[in-house]
Amino acid sequence: MTNQLKITPAAAIPKHLTGEVQSKLAYVDEAILRARVAADGIMLELREPVEGPRRSELEEKVQRVVSMMVQGAFRSKAQVLEDFSSRPVPFSADPNTELLARGEMFQEASGIYTLGPLMTRLIAFFDGQFTELADSFGATSYRFPTLIPARYLERVNYFRAFPHSLTFVTHLREDLDTIDDFSQHAACDEHGLNTPPDSFSKTQTLLSPAVCYHLYFSLADKPLPGGGLVATAVGNCFRYESINLASLERMWNFTMREVIFVGLKDFVLQNRETGRERMRGFFEKIGLAYRVESANDPFFIGEFKKQAAFQSAFQLKFEIRARLPFKNSTLAVGSYNYHQDFFGRSLNITLPDGSPAHTGCIAFGLERMAFAFLAQYGLDEARWPEGMRKGVVSGG
Ligand code: AMP
Ligand code: ZN
Repeated sequence: MTNQLKITPAAAIPKHLTGEVQSKLAYVDEAILRARVAADGIMLELREPVEGPRRSELEEKVQRVVSMMVQGAFRSKAQVLEDFSSRPVPFSADPNTELLARGEMFQEASGIYTLGPLMTRLIAFFDGQFTELADSFGATSYRFPTLIPARYLERVNYFRAFPHSLTFVTHLREDLDTIDDFSQHAACDEHGLNTPPDSFSKTQTLLSPAVCYHLYFSLADKPLPGGGLVATAVGNCFRYESINLASLERMWNFTMREVIFVGLKDFVLQNRETGRERMRGFFEKIGLAYRVESANDPFFIGEFKKQAAFQSAFQLKFEIRARLPFKNSTLAVGSYNYHQDFFGRSLNITLPDGSPAHTGCIAFGLERMAFAFLAQYGLDEARWPEGMRKGVVSGG
């Protein structure tokens, strides 16, 4: 008996969807430890061998994912707005080894990391630069909570679009016996805490998956003051990425800085474009090898085809993809987003003429930004571009 299972997909998986299908296989069955979509089929590595009906069930679920994501999917041409990916960079080793050895990265659990002094300085530097971008628009600063009410996420269709990546928050029920029992018996085994499920209250709250939602919620059900707004905030974000969690590239708990635009369509689109142009100058200063290209959000299986096609048809999302020389691939360190009037309509945010407000945001992943820079320049500050050496003040 083997832990490997090879499945030949009933529908051919086009090359541009390989990554999307592969990442979704993580959520198909708890038995799946690793999934790889290759030219000759889907290779699954399982936690234990499966046979008989269990194996048929697994195969059926995999085929279902493939057919839902692939059949009738149309390939939109990737649009590249900037391409500086061949900018020369001096480093090509895997920064993880040194980050771990120097205590710059400590894994508490899968997707959860403590970062050391160099990473902290780098992130503070990048956040400072992104805040300067926000300042250049005269943005108002906000602080948003880490928790987010379920009823808000429901209102913006989040449960339908991204159910797989949600993180739920709960607490013990207000019940003396339940709390007493927990305090006496709570213990962790290899699967987690051994608490009876009925000890927990019904979920009313989740961990926030993005920053800008909080602004939209605060503007809901009223006219937009002044008819237009630019805001900025930094915050903890949570996306459960299962077996796809990998180093600082894909975390469960990460930090995002956003610059957020709310107002008329042209106001949002023009600011998104101006923001991109300003960032081009910054990326040149720090010598980052990257490109900006059209992208889509990682919608769950049932929504993927329709939503991804919609996003690309209306040019709603562009990603800043930094080169990772050590694995000959790229990593999205930020995105330029336009949501049309989706939040304006869902949340009833109105413009002076009564129409729903348009929204957009520029979002930066701070850990990814620092990680991508180190992947291109290494941890030795002497090899960094001058703009970076000066900006990242030494000290611990
Ligand atoms: P998005 O809203 O998906 O465009 O996310 C904005 C940015 O957040 C991305 O470009 C990444 O830099 C960062 N980000 C998103 N998901 C993760 C993750 N799981 N781990 C680390 N950074 C992430
Ligand atoms: Zn946003």
